[in-house]
Amino acid sequence: MGKYAVVKKDSCIACGSCGSIAPDIFDFDSDGIAEVIFEGDDNRGVTAIPENLQEELQEAAESCPTECIQHAEAPFA
Ligand code: SF4
Repeated sequence: MGKYAVVKKDSCIACGSCGSIAPDIFDFDSDGIAEVIFEGDDNRGVTAIPENLQEELQEAAESCPTECIQHAEAPFA
């Protein structure tokens, strides 16, 4: 299970599922598209998601209807 996450914004349909499941990790940006907001990550995928939130991360990624939440063990940048 990944510790870093990003939203592929081009594929996000703004359904709200990720922010509902993991509100500490995901929120909508000013255009209404989801992004990773955890500790100011700003959807860069460089901020480690701690162990206690990884279950929410996994659940949010699995719930995404367009599979646009990517997560990995290493930072994305
Ligand atoms: S679950 Fe996926 S499609 Fe829905 S708002 Fe989150 S990133 Fe976008």
